Amino acid sequence: MAGGGPDARRARRSGRGWDHRDLVERDRKRLWHPYAPMPAAVPPVPVVAAAGTTLTLADGRQVIDGMSSWWAAIHGHRHPVLDEAVRTQLESMAHVMFGGITHPAAVELAELLVEIAPGGLEHVFLADSGSVSVEVAVKMALQYARGTGHPERTRLLTVASGYHGDTLAAMSVCDPVTGMHSMFNDVLPAQLFAPAPQPRYGETFRAQHIADFAELLTAHRHEIAAVILEPVTQGAGGMRFYSPDYLGEVRRLCDEHHVLLIADEIATGFGRTGKLFGCDHAGISPDIMCVGKALTGGYLSMAATLCTAEVAAGVSAAESGALMHGPTFMANPLAAATATASIRLLLSRPWEAEIAAIEEFLRAGLAPAAALAGVAEVRVLGAIGVIETTDPVPVAATQELLVDRGVWLRPFGRLLYTMPPYISGEEELRRITGAMVAAAEALP
Ligand SMILES: *Cc1c(COP(=O)(O)O)cnc(C)c1O
Repeated sequence: MAGGGPDARRARRSGRGWDHRDLVERDRKRLWHPYAPMPAAVPPVPVVAAAGTTLTLADGRQVIDGMSSWWAAIHGHRHPVLDEAVRTQLESMAHVMFGGITHPAAVELAELLVEIAPGGLEHVFLADSGSVSVEVAVKMALQYARGTGHPERTRLLTVASGYHGDTLAAMSVCDPVTGMHSMFNDVLPAQLFAPAPQPRYGETFRAQHIADFAELLTAHRHEIAAVILEPVTQGAGGMRFYSPDYLGEVRRLCDEHHVLLIADEIATGFGRTGKLFGCDHAGISPDIMCVGKALTGGYLSMAATLCTAEVAAGVSAAESGALMHGPTFMANPLAAATATASIRLLLSRPWEAEIAAIEEFLRAGLAPAAALAGVAEVRVLGAIGVIETTDPVPVAATQELLVDRGVWLRPFGRLLYTMPPYISGEEELRRITGAMVAAAEALP
């Protein structure tokens, strides 16, 4: 265990001075990990420092963060611009309540988000995590229904293979099979599910691809408060890329039936799919949009729910006259200032060209996996590279192989995938794709 004193602090800052095994043992006594029993079935890997694309493990090894730490650290770790944004904000305040108070960091972030978001989104709710921003989006839709004289519109229509978070309303619209419905069926509101969007990205869209969705929407329009989906890329529900024409048609049908459209851009926002937002592939604007994950460049927990002036007016006309949500850490100044810095940093870079280059590298690097036994498909969109296997990936063994090759990834189900930081260069991308192909070769 690292003690006090300046030497120990210096060592700690550089990531030295921690005992690998000691950390793992203490962790396993006390800490829950995501989607894990107590203690976790697989011991966690202790990380003691992160800089650029690299994570330093307690045993001194270094691995590339091929996950951007759950799709968030788009500029890598300890970026000087973001470090500076945190320090500068810290000099004025770390946090103040947002009830009855405002502050420059919130105002600047809201204006910037509205400026870059698809047209028509004018108002911003700054939430403290992605799941909460989805809850807020759902509440907006429900309150809008009441405020516009349709209290009977209480259900959501979504598509299979989606993922929207782990809180109850968010869970109710996650894929019913790969999500956690079986465990929570008794308490989840029963939502409407159309088949997963078709065709794949790049394939020709035909009317039949959306027939089931259109039928459900038409049949249930009187009880639907909103349609919710992830635009063009479905993330944790299956890493699927689908045709922007499908999304365009969803927008058209929602307009036709006067149903709100919620775009969950928490995974797709800020360039990940090659466009600034997933909706930009189809040139559409949703009525409500959620962003999170990469919003603060992976530094702090923050998400946002944007909505149109019409939605805001409808919500505010409901009997409560107010949007009924207000987290303690709403609009946290440290997170808001970092988010503004991260977005400005992204926009100051040739991000489209950088992500296009990553896409090309991932395509070339992962292509050899396509021919392997045990691999169902290789697919790439923007800075997302996926190897889908025919059987579930053995997580512990695969992760060990990857770490030995200097790469950190977190496979799940039949998916071995990377979402590298945008600052990744050739060398890093080659290491990531090489390790992924090796992992696919090693499948049982
Ligand atoms: C990660 C994710 C969420 C949930 O965000 P949290 O910050 O983990 O609560 C919701 N929707 C999508 C599309 C996501 O990828």
